[in-house]
Amino acid sequence: MSLSGKIAVVTGGSRGIGRAISQRLAALGALVIVNYVSNSSAADETVQSIRNAGGKGEAVQFNVAVSEEIEAAFKKILEAHGQVDILVNNAGITRDTLLMKMKDEQWDEVLNTNLKGVFLCTKAVSRAMMKQRWGRIINITSVVGFAGNAGQANYAAAKAGIVGFTKSVARELASRGITVNGVAPGYIVTDMTRDLSDEVTNKIMAEIPMGVLGEAEDIAGAVSYLASDDARYVTGQFIHVNGGMYM
Ligand code: NDP
Repeated sequence: MSLSGKIAVVTGGSRGIGRAISQRLAALGALVIVNYVSNSSAADETVQSIRNAGGKGEAVQFNVAVSEEIEAAFKKILEAHGQVDILVNNAGITRDTLLMKMKDEQWDEVLNTNLKGVFLCTKAVSRAMMKQRWGRIINITSVVGFAGNAGQANYAAAKAGIVGFTKSVARELASRGITVNGVAPGYIVTDMTRDLSDEVTNKIMAEIPMGVLGEAEDIAGAVSYLASDDARYVTGQFIHVNGGMYM
């Protein structure tokens, strides 16, 4: 499996799952644009780790929820590299609380980053991918988008929205050589889940047949398959990487 010569953009590539995806795609030969919103030192660390391993990467700041920032960033990326072959829509946030307590802002922030961001970045690369008649768009959803979760109505709505979006765009772009798929992680150890209480973690563990939390690298493996030529006939699909938590 080689991604040599490919240009990949990973949103939220600075930390956690996005970092592991960036490192994996770079290890397979892609030049990886590591996006972040505010943590430039984490993005620099990711890029440095890619370069130390002999790969190519660069950090680019933009907020996936702001269309002007995305337009400007993708214009620059396309001018500099001439193409974007792989887009991984990974950036995401949580603002967890029960429905009765959920404020409009908590709903809007999560929907704007986790769902509108996927729409905006996908739109920004689709014209260039259509012209080159090759592209891979991989959207990171969640087990929660399929199973729901108390306290995460905003997050689950956004992640389930990604499912419908992915299937629709997969149908629109299939004839142009572009595949659009998703990966649905279960519980993965990252900054997003690190601070869960022991009680919550134990409850989650009890629902995972494999009995362990996942690692960011587990998601990177699924993403790299979908980005490769091996997956050329796979579109509109989701790979569930969750230790059996949801079947
Ligand atoms: P982290 O909190 O560890 O990292 C989040 C990343 O997203 C960071 O790189 C952050 O950038 C970036 N980001 C956040 N908001 C924006 C924005 N507005 N614009 C651009 N970048 C942004 O999260 P994870 O690695 O855990 O999660 C990655 C994806 O996987 C998310 O979509 C998440 O919903 C999904 N997921 C995670 C699971 C888990 O168990 N961890 C389970 C299921 C799905 P910066 O460094 O600048 O803050």
